[in-house]
Amino acid sequence: IIMFAPTPVETMTFAQREIFVKRDDLIHPDFSGNKARKFQYFLEKECPEITKVVGYGSAQANSLHSLAVLTKMRGWQLDYYVDHIASYLQQNPQGNYLSALENGANIIEKPEHVTESLDSYVTELAKSALANELYIPEGGRCEYAASGLEQLGQQILDWMHENHYLTLNLFLPSGTGTTALFLQRFFKVKRAEDEGSPEVNVLTCSCVGGNDYLRLQFKQLSENALHHPRIISNGSKYHFGKLKRECFEMWQRVCASGIEFELLYDPVGFIMLEHFLTHSIVGDNIDNTAPLMYLHQGGVLGNPSMLARYKRKYQAK
Ligand SMILES: *Cc1c(COP(=O)(O)O)cnc(C)c1O
Repeated sequence: IIMFAPTPVETMTFAQREIFVKRDDLIHPDFSGNKARKFQYFLEKECPEITKVVGYGSAQANSLHSLAVLTKMRGWQLDYYVDHIASYLQQNPQGNYLSALENGANIIEKPEHVTESLDSYVTELAKSALANELYIPEGGRCEYAASGLEQLGQQILDWMHENHYLTLNLFLPSGTGTTALFLQRFFKVKRAEDEGSPEVNVLTCSCVGGNDYLRLQFKQLSENALHHPRIISNGSKYHFGKLKRECFEMWQRVCASGIEFELLYDPVGFIMLEHFLTHSIVGDNIDNTAPLMYLHQGGVLGNPSMLARYKRKYQAK
């Protein structure tokens, strides 16, 4: 059973400001940042009846890698369903996919005759789950994720106390929005219990499916609008995993700070963060001059394959 030591906070210059970077990517060599937090519950809890975990998502997902490591540590089997494994990836296993194979994951393609979505296919399988099987929603979007994320939230509060900050804007890019929402909920609950607790505004942006999708995710995770993070947008929509010169350039810019960021979420995150820091929105009650912390959520294991895609796309021209 593992407890994670607090991850370090570093500084970098961005948009002509000093910002803090919470290096949650350094949480554990075998876990990628926020998935380690989300699955931490299953490292802490005994779960004597469980021998097998069933998950699903993309064959390149950070959660595949982290689930594979987790199940291996616990001596459980992992069945992980994917829509399709690209033949290029099958022939050249790399990144999260390779590491999951090395950790003994069974990566299973959805049968060809199945026309329903991967999500409903696995949800259907879950209905006949055996007592020894644990089904985990895509990307760890479930209440289990709260316990590890609350430990992360507490680390941030402790850091604020040590450094005498009373307010903080915490920025992180979202997929399902689970990380952002559970963090915002934690900070709000803390402050409701104790007025002396620092104020943390969680700011995020949508990297998958747009702002309406993200708002819907928030509603499904919590009915209480006070727990919903603020969505920052510059008005552009970025399609998940799509290669954009603008994203690549932002990635190069932030990596020049000496910290390696990842290539799916962070470029969009920093584009939106720059917008937030350089535009004060009239009538907005969030102060963009307050101290800012960027949460590095890991995922750099996927960088070599994304970089190879960028090279193929832009060097061919
Ligand atoms: C999974 C992931 C996210 C998205 O997290 P959500 O909780 O789904 O919003 C962001 N960044 C990285 C690196 C991730 O692996």
